[in-house]
Amino acid sequence: MKKAMSWIFGIALAVFVIDWGVMGLKIFDNDYNITVEAHISLVCIVLLFICGVYKIFGRSRCGHCGKVRWSDGEYCPYCGNKA
Ligand SMILES: [Zn+2]
Repeated sequence: MKKAMSWIFGIALAVFVIDWGVMGLKIFDNDYNITVEAHISLVCIVLLFICGVYKIFGRSRCGHCGKVRWSDGEYCPYCGNKA
């Protein structure tokens, strides 16, 4: 699940950057018909936001015992498993 989220995050970020590049080129070309691009970038922002929230909350919880970890260590202080 964590891997899928980082994949979505990476893809959304790449699409977002490309989308803004396309939008920039269109505006530079005096073509203001960017409704599709605007919608794509909006979807990307939502995806990035969801991934960001998931990352913050996913990191503070141990994936093995489910306890909240306040430290940022590589191993869980409760069950000793690698996070
Ligand atoms: Zn644990």
